[in-house]
Formats: sequence, structure tokens, C-alpha cells
Amino acid sequence: MKISLYQLTTFIIGLLLLTSIDIHASDKGKYVVVIHGGAGTILKKNMSPEKEQAYKAKLDEALVAAEKILKAKGTCVEAVKAAIMVMENSPLFNAGKGAVFTNAGKNELDASIMRGKDLNAGAVAGVTNIKNPIHAAIMVMDNSEHVMLAGKGASDFAKSQDVEIVDPKYFYTKSRWESLQRLIKKEREITQRDKHGTVGCVVLDTYGNLAAGTSTGGMTNKKYGRIGDSPIIGAGTYANNKTCAISCTGHGEYYIRLSFARDISAMMEYQGITIENACKQEVRKLTKLGGTGGTIAVDKDGNVAMEFNTAGMYRGYIKSSGEKIISIYK
Ligand code: ASP
Repeated sequence: MKISLYQLTTFIIGLLLLTSIDIHASDKGKYVVVIHGGAGTILKKNMSPEKEQAYKAKLDEALVAAEKILKAKGTCVEAVKAAIMVMENSPLFNAGKGAVFTNAGKNELDASIMRGKDLNAGAVAGVTNIKNPIHAAIMVMDNSEHVMLAGKGASDFAKSQDVEIVDPKYFYTKSRWESLQRLIKKEREITQRDKHGTVGCVVLDTYGNLAAGTSTGGMTNKKYGRIGDSPIIGAGTYANNKTCAISCTGHGEYYIRLSFARDISAMMEYQGITIENACKQEVRKLTKLGGTGGTIAVDKDGNVAMEFNTAGMYRGYIKSSGEKIISIYK
């Protein structure tokens, strides 16, 4: 059988196309989940083995919850929600159930979400009766024309979206109450400069889309309706399919002033630098201003960065390759 040059060329081109589709498909099948549970003066010498184990187990549960969604071909936003809700429902972290107290002895929670595909975003700030603020933030993104809703209006909207509402007493935990009393005694105005327990999650899903989410109780002893970086898109949370997804934890005022999360994305977009380099540079800017905290990030190719300038940061990631890391200290 004779094969013409034309047939041979068509065959080779076909083969090349098939392989490239294959490579593309397997590339799209990959996923990455990165989480944080806050940064601060977290030292091994101050941690009991039981407490350390409890934190690690909860971080693991959050990673696994997000991974389950991604394995079932769910979206990055659904995965972020699953991971963050695990941490919001735990008293260990300063988000949801474990939220810190304001100076007035209340709990005022903030959360945000951003999707890198269409740059859509949603946030709630200063809410007092929403069990899972991340859920409310997602509803703001998906079912409203707005990006950020605050206070009672945010709660009313959440109610209309069937987001779970709780009695504000639900957020009472003895340990957070005692932290407030200690700080009031010391008369430190805005506090927790050295302890940030916010939670966050960034995801690259199997469709190649990125999302970032953050949820917090803010800073212990906060006054005057103070809102930090966590619900502010570009400060504590940012995602763009062109570059990366970012979630932060730390002294919010500094993150807002730096446009921290957006700045990392911008450095990658305009300077073409790696995610690790961009996060390192941004944390250096934070240190220079006098701020403390950390950040987690994943880029569009699945590279991960977890940077902080404190003694520790509860953190971890899981990749479709099977790689998994959970750590606390520097
Ligand atoms: N970034 C949060 C805030 O300033 C606090 C934290 O991360 O713990 O509200």
C-alpha cells in the first residue's frame, strides 16, 4: 500500500493535535487547594501536643473537604466554600464559631470570595448572626448586583438567600471572651497584633479556574465598626485566572494600605515574576511598614506559595499529584 506525502502529513498533524489535546486535558484535570488558619506568634513551646494535633486534624479536614468537591468535578468556588466552612464551624480559628470579640463584647464577622474567571466577587462585613459568612459572601457574588454588603443589610440579604442565621450567642467561646478581658485590662486599642486566626482558602480547579476566599472575626477588642482587610477585594482576597488566587491573614490595616493581594497579582501580571517571588516581595513590603501576618497563594499553573513574617502560620495544601503538606511553625 502506497502512502502519499499528503496522507502522511495529515496523519502526523492529526497525531500532533491529539497529543496536544491530551496534554491539555490532563493539565486541566489537575487541582490544587491551599488553606490558612491564621498567622502569629505561634510557638511550639507554647503548644501542647493535643492542641497541635487538633489544629492539624482540622486543617486536614478542610483540605479533604475541598478535595472531595474537586474530585467530583465541582468548581473552585464550591471547594473554597467547603474548606472555609469546616474552619468556620470550628472554635479553633478566628472565623465563624471561633470569632473574636469586639470591645463592646460582640462578634462582628467579615468574609469575601473572588472568582478568577470573570473577576466577580462578593463580601459581607460586620455581620453578627450569619453562621457561615463565606456562604453569604458567595450569595452576594452570585445573586446580587453588589460586591460588599454590611451589617443588618447583609443579614437581611443572607436570610433571603436561605443562608443559615444563628443567635449571636452562638459565637460565644470562653477562650475568646477571656482574650478580650485580658486585652481590655491592658488597654490596648486595636489588638491581636501578634495573633491572627483568620481562615482562608485558594483553589485551582480541574477546569483551570482560580478562586480565593477569606473569613474572619477581625481583631480582638476592635471598636467603632472597624473593618479589616478580609472582606476587601484586593486587600485580603484576590483572584484572577491570568495570574493567581490569594488569601491573607494579618494586621488588616497594613494589608488594606498595601492593596496586598491585588499587588501580588499585579507584580505577576506586569513584571512576569513567579508567585513565590511576588509573595516574598509583598511580605517584605508589609514588614517594612511595620505590619505582621501572612498569605497563601496558588497560580494558574498550580504553583503554591505560603509566606509570612510571624513565628508561625497554620497552613497546608493538597495537590492532585497526591502531594500534601500541613504545617504550623516557620
Ligand atoms: N486580617 C484580619 C483583620 O485585620 C485579622 C486576622 O487575619 O486575624 O481583620
